[in-house]
Amino acid sequence: GGTLGILGGGQLGRMLCLEARRLGYRTVVWSGSEVAEPTQGVADEVILKPFSDAEAQAYFVEQVDVATVEFENIDHDVLRAVDAAVGIHPRPEAVAICQNREREKLFLQGKGIPCAPFRVIETAADLAAGVTELGGKGVLKTAAFGYDGKGQIRVHEGMDWEMVWADFDFPRAVLEKWIPFECEISVMVARGADGAMEVYDVAENVHREHVLDYSIVPARVDAQVVAQAQELAKKLAEGLEYRGIMGVEFFVSESEGLIVNEMAPRPHNSGHHTMDACETSQFEQQLRAVVGLSLGSSRLFCPVVMLNLLGDMWRGEGLFEKLALQENATWHLYGKTSSKGLRKCGHANFLGEQALENALALKNAVLGES
Ligand code: ATP
Ligand code: MG
Ligand code: MG
Repeated sequence: GGTLGILGGGQLGRMLCLEARRLGYRTVVWSGSEVAEPTQGVADEVILKPFSDAEAQAYFVEQVDVATVEFENIDHDVLRAVDAAVGIHPRPEAVAICQNREREKLFLQGKGIPCAPFRVIETAADLAAGVTELGGKGVLKTAAFGYDGKGQIRVHEGMDWEMVWADFDFPRAVLEKWIPFECEISVMVARGADGAMEVYDVAENVHREHVLDYSIVPARVDAQVVAQAQELAKKLAEGLEYRGIMGVEFFVSESEGLIVNEMAPRPHNSGHHTMDACETSQFEQQLRAVVGLSLGSSRLFCPVVMLNLLGDMWRGEGLFEKLALQENATWHLYGKTSSKGLRKCGHANFLGEQALENALALKNAVLGES
């Protein structure tokens, strides 16, 4: 046992707390804000204070034996201070790279890992020139603090760049070339205190309005693509001197090859299938790596589809009655009281050969024939 400190109070923190409790560890969450619904009542203690609060920081490090993050948008100085006091995994430098698209892209380039061609944008003129140089079509993304497609827009030649840049309203951005992809995949990789690695089966991810809708595992891609994605994920974990679990998102593109989209220095939505379909869940793996235990096996028991219970499904007709009737399926809820828009309220894992059919049938039944 011991006490694990977690920076961030969302659903990833919640599921990490639940696994930690099952495995005999205490948890203290420092939410960084006044709201941390998912972890309240699940963590042993929740500190509802901003990350800038020096008193909260002193209190947090006093309570915990070691720390981790469930959310990457945390000031580097705070991560470094916690690291100096009790140790934080992954290390602050790895989080800093993954939390900022500009640093992330430069890191990928430096390691010779394929990523979308890009330009750093600070003015409307940069944007105008960049779009032309990148082939007339791209995605403009804020350098920091984006998620679920927030802080990004699609751009194409002929737009009014002064207006686009003024509306975008971030001081610094990355413009990426538009990648025409066949599908999106991701890989979870864990690296332990001793440098040993465990890589999971590849997930194929389907999005709805930039929000992950469902993941199919194993992904329906060539064995060669699977092997390449897993190799790249391991190369990244090694290159970052990573300790903990990490998600790596890819585009599978016929014209451009396999391209790394972004990394998440924490458990990832596309890794939720591991909770029911793998020998070691991504959250157990995170705990093992962070507290210094050896890693567990990433073995997949059977095909699985993870369906996100987004706000509209949550508000839909008879969700729980329909879920309860499913065979080979289980669900996990995040303890949120608002289901606005496509907010992530929970997820369901469907196991076995019929997983995709069953997941889509349930989704259609709940959302209706709209
Ligand atoms: P999250 O962190 O929740 O995964 P995000 O806000 O960090 O999302 P990205 O993963 O960068 O955003 O992009 C969201 C989605 O937009 C991608 O999954 C992909 O579908 C699409 N997209 C992003 N960049 C490109 C690109 N260069 N070419 C084509 N499509 C893209
Ligand atoms: Mg992201
Ligand atoms: Mg993404």
